[in-house]
Amino acid sequence: MSKVLIIGAGGVGTVVAHKVAQNADVFTGIMLASRTKSKCDAIAADVERRTGVKIQTAQVDADNVPELVALMRSFQPKIVINVALPYQDLHIMDACLEAGVNYLDTANYEPLEEAHFEYSWQWAYHDRFKEAGLCAILGCGFDPGCTAIYTAYAAKHHFDEMHYLDIVDCNAGDHHKAFATNFNPEINIREITQRGKYWQDGRWVDIDPMSIHQPLTYPEIGPKESYLLYHEELESLVKNYPTIKRARFWMTFGQEYLTHLRVIQNIGMARIDPIEYNGQQIVPIQFLKAVLPAPETLGSNYTGYTSIGCRIRGVKDGQEKTYHIYNNCSHKAAYDETGTQGVSYTTGVPAMTGAYMFLTGQWGGHGVFNVEEFNPDPFLKKVAESGLPWHEIHNGDLEL
Ligand code: NDP
Repeated sequence: MSKVLIIGAGGVGTVVAHKVAQNADVFTGIMLASRTKSKCDAIAADVERRTGVKIQTAQVDADNVPELVALMRSFQPKIVINVALPYQDLHIMDACLEAGVNYLDTANYEPLEEAHFEYSWQWAYHDRFKEAGLCAILGCGFDPGCTAIYTAYAAKHHFDEMHYLDIVDCNAGDHHKAFATNFNPEINIREITQRGKYWQDGRWVDIDPMSIHQPLTYPEIGPKESYLLYHEELESLVKNYPTIKRARFWMTFGQEYLTHLRVIQNIGMARIDPIEYNGQQIVPIQFLKAVLPAPETLGSNYTGYTSIGCRIRGVKDGQEKTYHIYNNCSHKAAYDETGTQGVSYTTGVPAMTGAYMFLTGQWGGHGVFNVEEFNPDPFLKKVAESGLPWHEIHNGDLEL
């Protein structure tokens, strides 16, 4: 019996629920728990309609460790897939340690009151997971997730030494809304309004937000203006692959999106500190989230593709070489299969696949691990079969 507890019933949780149900031979018991139980019930009904598999549901406050422990003790999952928000990571890890449950997430911990994310908080749990004989798998979405596993695959099969790594993330889709974010708006806006940084010659280089950009050509899509951001997988990848001299992350944004974002910041709606409003305290970015379209509602009219991959330069058998590995995902195909758009899909499919790797014994170990520390081969086979096929270009022009 390999029971799985999914925590979080947003866009990503919806995809994870569908994908684990499609693999009910391995996930022999499924529970979806979140803050709002009615959302879990609606997803469970849709999953049952599409797959015939029944999912149990529960209400849980994932910031309340005793509540989480009680739920885990009563359901007895082998692994938790955490697709709530980054703020909950440490509480869910604490509960997993207490209840003896393995852990997987897709985004690293971020304190609610500070827009700052790094792995140190979660890496500090390594010895406790090791001593408990449990495994914690960090960052198993698309980016982080597939991007780190693509890098591991490149290191294993195509390079003796990797020197330059550029992770490129393009959303060439159109949801036909004036402004909406593809995953949780609060997390998204906090991430992209931070200062940027990249790794160069053994140190981080800090830059003004969105100050470095250039057009990059995405396969079957064409050129799109791409902006250099900091992204969490850079931190673990430069640690795990010390031959990397420069590591950067690029993301595409349309002019319309950037204009809205600038206005949101200029008028104070991106603030994360509480303000007094009509006698009560509200956090502007949380209020903004309440009026923006929810990511899981964007799918029905979403056209176009995402294209995310790694462009790597290094040496193999004494020769310089370039390597590009990527996936293109259709928003419409994602919607037809799961009722959600491509960004939730590209996150939820790898999360299911990582849990599948663990439950089938293809990934494992005691402690806290980033995904590039596991064998990439079985993961990439399964993730391709599960809806995210990947492609390679050898010795092409990386433009970077
Ligand atoms: P959503 O906001 O759509 O969903 C988050 C869910 O978590 C909601 O159902 C919410 O409940 C629930 N939740 C929030 N706080 C709590 C709490 N205290 N207790 C219980 N449940 C809670 O976000 P997404 O689905 O878009 O994103 C989910 C995660 O995936 C995020 O951490 C995000 O950073 C990550 N992500 C990772 C990517 C990757 O490639 N690695 C890409 C995209 C996202 P309620 O419904 O009541 O609000």
